[in-house]
Amino acid sequence: MKVFMLVLDGIADRPIKELGYKTPLEYASKKNIDELSKMGINGILDIISPGIRPGSDVAHLSILGYDPYKYYTGRGPLEALGVGLELGDEDIAFRTNFATVNNDWIVLDRRAGRIENGYIFDDVINSIGRIDDVKIIYKTSLSHRGVLILRGKNLGEKVSDTDPHKVGERVRECIPLVNDESSRKTARIINEFTKKVYELLNNHPENIKRENEGKPKANILLVRGAGKIKRVESFQSKYGIRGACIAKTAIIKGVGRLLGMHVEDSEEKYEDRINQALNLLNEYDFVLLNIKEGDEAGHDGDFMRKVRIIEEIDKALNPVFEFIEDNYFVLLADHTTPCSVRDHTGDEVPMLIVGPEVRKDDVEKFSERDCAKGYIGRIRALDLMNYLLNLINKLEKFGA
Ligand SMILES: [Zn+2]
Repeated sequence: MKVFMLVLDGIADRPIKELGYKTPLEYASKKNIDELSKMGINGILDIISPGIRPGSDVAHLSILGYDPYKYYTGRGPLEALGVGLELGDEDIAFRTNFATVNNDWIVLDRRAGRIENGYIFDDVINSIGRIDDVKIIYKTSLSHRGVLILRGKNLGEKVSDTDPHKVGERVRECIPLVNDESSRKTARIINEFTKKVYELLNNHPENIKRENEGKPKANILLVRGAGKIKRVESFQSKYGIRGACIAKTAIIKGVGRLLGMHVEDSEEKYEDRINQALNLLNEYDFVLLNIKEGDEAGHDGDFMRKVRIIEEIDKALNPVFEFIEDNYFVLLADHTTPCSVRDHTGDEVPMLIVGPEVRKDDVEKFSERDCAKGYIGRIRALDLMNYLLNLINKLEKFGA
C-alpha cells in the first residue's frame, strides 16, 4: 500500500463576505474532492500548534514529521537546495532578489520590475569569484529571485538582511546579530559583495538597455534569510519507505532535498501533475505533490481565482479513485492564506484521508468547517506521518 499526499498550498481561507460568508472551498463546486471526503475520514490539522503562522517551508517539514523547531534551517539553505546547488556544512546561504536603487542606494523597486530574465546577470555576479578567502556562488532561481552562497572558513550565519523590505528606504548595511568574529566576517563580506554587485550592474549594457526601454534597472542584489544547513535523518531512514516530492517552488523542493527524497519539478497542467504523482507511485511508497497556485491567489487577495483553481484541480482528480482501491490518498492545505489577509495565518487547515480501511465518517464535503466535524478530529501535522504509516501497516510497534 502506498500514500499519495496532495498539498493544496494555502488553499484554506476564512469566510468571505462577497461569497456569502463562505470560504473558497465551501463556495467552489468540486464533485471529486467532496466525493473523496464522503468516502474517507476527515479532520483538521494544527500545522505547528494553535494559532502559529507557518511559512510553507516550516509547514512542509511539520507535515512530513520533522519538528521545524529542531530542523528548520532558515530559507536560504532550503532555497539553495531547491535550485539544485550543493551546500557544504560550513556554507552560508541567502535568498536574494534583484532590486532597483538610485545613486544613494534608496530602493525604488524591491523586485527590479519583476525582471523576467535575472539569470542573464549570473555570470557577471559569479565573476566576482572571491572576496578575501570566501568563494561567491550565485544563481537566479526565478525572475528576480535567487540564491547566494558564501563558501569559506569561519563564517557565521547570525547576520541581518540588507533588504529593507520597503520602497523608499536605503539598502541596509549587513550587521552581525551576535558578537562573534565569524558573524562579523560574514557581514563584512556581504557589504563588500553588495558594493561590487552595484559597481558591476549599474552601468551594465543590459541595464542600460532596460533603462532605454523604460524598465527599472536590476542594479543591486538584496540578501535575506541567512542560514547554514542542518543535516537531518533522511525520510527513508526515518520511516523505512521511499519518498518523492513534486513541486514548482524552489523552497518546497529544498525541503524534499533536505530530507533526501526524490525531487521533481511539477508538470504544467493539473491533470499532468496528478498523473506525474501517480506514475511516481509505481516506484515510490510515498509521494507529496505540492500545488502552489491557490496560495498565490490568496496572497493576491483574489478569491474568485482561488475558487476557479479549486474547481480546476477537482476536475483533474478522476484517476485518484482507482488508486484508492488499494492505496491511501491524503488531501490537505499546508496553512491558511486568507484572501482578506493576503498572507499566511495560523488557522487550522482541513484534511481528508481516504483508502481501503478507513473508518468512514459522516462528512460529505471538504472544507474548513465540514472537516472539523470529521472522525479524525483535530491533530498536529507532526503526527500525520505516523497516522498514515499506521494505516498502511508500516509502523513499528511500541512495546511488546
Ligand atoms: Zn504554503
